[in-house]
Amino acid sequence: MNDFIPITDDGLVGKDQFGQIWAIQADDTSMRTMIRDPRGQVCNICGKGWLNTRDSMVDHAYIDGHWMHKTCYIGHLKLNERSMWETAFSKALRPHGGWKGMKDRYEIDSQYPSGWGTPWYQCEYHRSDLNVRGQFTFGRRKRVWSISYKGDSPFASPDELKPLGDEDVTFDVTDFEVLIHAWTVPKVDEYIARIINAIHPETADVEVSAG
Ligand SMILES: [Zn+2]
Repeated sequence: MNDFIPITDDGLVGKDQFGQIWAIQADDTSMRTMIRDPRGQVCNICGKGWLNTRDSMVDHAYIDGHWMHKTCYIGHLKLNERSMWETAFSKALRPHGGWKGMKDRYEIDSQYPSGWGTPWYQCEYHRSDLNVRGQFTFGRRKRVWSISYKGDSPFASPDELKPLGDEDVTFDVTDFEVLIHAWTVPKVDEYIARIINAIHPETADVEVSAG
């Protein structure tokens, strides 16, 4: 890059001789990244524009023709995903009750890269009436959502998991554990419902109380 004509007040974003926009790193000016120019655009989420600084200019995402602050977009993804998980688990668990996991969840931030920094969750799953205890771990991994469960005891109804082996996705299962990647929101719902049924099929309530 021969020319660098600064266009931000801090001098850390500028144009080259071809009109391309580059952002340089404040602590290492040899590090340059070519970026889109968000000036004059409006964020599709918060309705605000961009400040004339490097930090503001690089805080953008351009997705399907829409301008957004990257920070705004990540906030949107976080809320959407949280709502998706709550819906998936509540549907799967409605017949059973006894779910206390979502209150006990916590975020895992660095262990599993999600691509967009959206949180991963872990939930204890405990049904003392059925003598069932285990742990769900779930979150986004790049373009898929990863769902895994590890029980203290084997799946009561492992056949429930068999159809998952026919899906063209990452899938791993043992007597106690299962891991699967879902590509769509309906698949998140379906996989979680199947895993819950494998842990304790709906008839388990009857069988256990009869025993
Ligand atoms: Zn915004």
